[in-house]
Amino acid sequence: MKIILLGPPGAGKGTIAKALMAQDGSVQISTGDILRAAVAAGTELGKKAEAAMKAGDLVTDELIMGIMEERLLEDDCKQGYLLDGFPRTIPQAEALRALLARLGEKLDCALELDIPREVIIDRLTTRRTCSNCGEIYNVKSKPPKVEGVCDVCGSEIVQRDDETEEAIENRLEVYNEQTAPLVDFYRNEGLLVSVPTSDLEPVLAAINSRL
Ligand code: ADP
Ligand code: ZN
Repeated sequence: MKIILLGPPGAGKGTIAKALMAQDGSVQISTGDILRAAVAAGTELGKKAEAAMKAGDLVTDELIMGIMEERLLEDDCKQGYLLDGFPRTIPQAEALRALLARLGEKLDCALELDIPREVIIDRLTTRRTCSNCGEIYNVKSKPPKVEGVCDVCGSEIVQRDDETEEAIENRLEVYNEQTAPLVDFYRNEGLLVSVPTSDLEPVLAAINSRL
C-alpha cells in the first residue's frame, strides 16, 4: 500500500499508520517523528526545525522535501509506505507528485480522517508521549500502567512542547490554512478516501474498498 494520511493533528494518523503497518509490512514514515529525532540528536536538520516546531508552525517545504526525497528511496519503501504528516502544504503535494512520477510510483489513496474539532482538542490536551520511544498515551483513555512511566521502555512520559493549549490552537489554525486544502487537491486527483472516524475497522473497510 502507498497511502497518504490526511487529517488534523490528533486525528489518529499515527495510530492508524501503525495498525496498517502491522497488517501488510508497509512502513510508516512520519515527518514529525523524523524531525523530533533530529531535534533530540541536535543535528543540523534539528537545529533548523526546532523553533518552528515548538511554536506549532510548519518547517519549510524545502527542508521537508530534502528529507522525503531521501527517505522514499530507501529499500524498506519498496513494500509500500504510509505517509503520516506529509505532505502538509500544496507545494509539498505538488513536489511529491513530481517525485513519484520520476520514480514511476503511484499512490493508492489519500485517506482523510475527518474528525470534529472538539474531539481533536480534547484528545490533544490529554495526550502524553514517551520521551524515549515515542509511544503515545492518553491520561483519560490510555493511561500507562504506572503513572508517568512508559509501559514499553520504562522511560518518562511527557507532554510535548507543542501540546500546550496555545500551541494546539496554532497547530489547528495552521492545519486549516495550509493543510486542509490538500483534501480538495487529492479529491481532484481522484485519490481521496474520507472517513469520519479513526476507528480501525471502518478505516480498513474504506481502504480495502479502494484497493
Ligand atoms: P501533529 O501531531 O501536529 O500531526 P507531527 O508530529 O506530524 O504533528 O509534526 C510535528 C511538527 O513537525 C509540526 O508541527 C511541524 O512543525 C513539523 N512538521 C512535521 N511534518 C511537516 C511537514 N510535512 N511540513 C512542515 N512541517 C512539518
Ligand atoms: Zn517508551
